[in-house]
Amino acid sequence: MATIYLGLGTNLGDKADNLHRAVEEINRTIGKVTSLSSFYETAPWGFCSDNTFLNAALRAETTLAPEEVLARTQQIERDLGRTHKSAGGIYTDRPIDIDILLYDGLCLTTPALTLPHPGMADRLFVLRPLAEIAPDLIHPVTGLTISELLRRACQKET
Ligand code: AMP
Repeated sequence: MATIYLGLGTNLGDKADNLHRAVEEINRTIGKVTSLSSFYETAPWGFCSDNTFLNAALRAETTLAPEEVLARTQQIERDLGRTHKSAGGIYTDRPIDIDILLYDGLCLTTPALTLPHPGMADRLFVLRPLAEIAPDLIHPVTGLTISELLRRACQKET
């Protein structure tokens, strides 16, 4: 059994409903969801849009391998209406985006999957919800806790 942390984001349609539906599908197809953060309204990151985001983080227990977790999060994204992936650093509005932030303490780089998620250590929209449910969790690359990463990211912002 592995403990995974996922980051969720949405900026189209009924955003709270999109998050609730994604959590239900994760619980049904990936593993039992054991913690869910509050929903945080955030500004779009990496592109311009009038549609603000709603972000959340969750913890789940799974028996699936990392690649299978990715396949299932991508299936949930398609089921909830996401039609295209971001590519080459081009980001767009999306009904749901699910990132695998951490899979136990695993560090992994394959063409399809990087763990921990490469952007998580300095993105406030990931760290705020994650710090709510796992403040003392150690990020395996930096060796810092999620609270410490959040404090560092906040200092960089100001
Ligand atoms: P997205 O930002 O959801 O559009 O994802 C773009 C691509 O990132 C996907 O096709 C994944 O193969 C890749 N990817 C690499 N590492 C991760 C990760 N930790 N979680 C989710 N997607 C990832």
